[in-house]
Amino acid sequence: MGKNLDPKCKQCRRVGEKLMLKGDRCNSPKCAMVKRNYPPGIHGPKLIRRKKQSEYGIQLNEKQKAKKQYGLMEKQFRIIFDKAQRKTGKTGFNLMKLLERRLDNVIFRLGFASSRSNARQLVNHGHFNINGRKVNIPSFEVKEGDIIEIKSSSKRNKIFKDLVEKLKKHEAPGWLNLDKSELKAKVLHEPGEEDVQSNINTQMIIEHYS
Ligand code: SF4
Repeated sequence: MGKNLDPKCKQCRRVGEKLMLKGDRCNSPKCAMVKRNYPPGIHGPKLIRRKKQSEYGIQLNEKQKAKKQYGLMEKQFRIIFDKAQRKTGKTGFNLMKLLERRLDNVIFRLGFASSRSNARQLVNHGHFNINGRKVNIPSFEVKEGDIIEIKSSSKRNKIFKDLVEKLKKHEAPGWLNLDKSELKAKVLHEPGEEDVQSNINTQMIIEHYS
């Protein structure tokens, strides 16, 4: 599977929005969108947000934003979009639900990782059990009733040191019931409309692909 090697902050500057790809740094004054809020490249400062974009440009930007935010390559994103289209109901909502149900996203939402890329790495390294069995596939889709937990052998790992303390300030989305002391969570139901509110305009993505 391909990997996006573009520096994370450049990805934010290119789409013109904070994509929160670097954990705590994203909320600090060191964030590149605070220090250099213009597109990367030598002509970036001259392109100060943003010259009038074409309809196509706006749609493309919206798709890129979603893709980068969830850390996906074009092919993976397209597969998820096609799946969302095949499901009954609104395609945009289906798309967001599928993105939210990915295991790497869930680990990030639960506060077990500082960013989605960090979550993906932790999943790849096999630190989580689902319903008692190790799952190391970031694209795994969680479903209602699933129990997600940090493996007991991993809880002693220094990566998760201080996690219980950090989670005290963390709020998990309503569709996930997080047990902050046991470091485990239950999927209560699929994400609802209120759980998938985001800065992504899914209508633009649908128009882009149509
Ligand atoms: Fe984006 Fe985070 Fe970098 Fe800011 S610090 S530009 S939000 S990745």
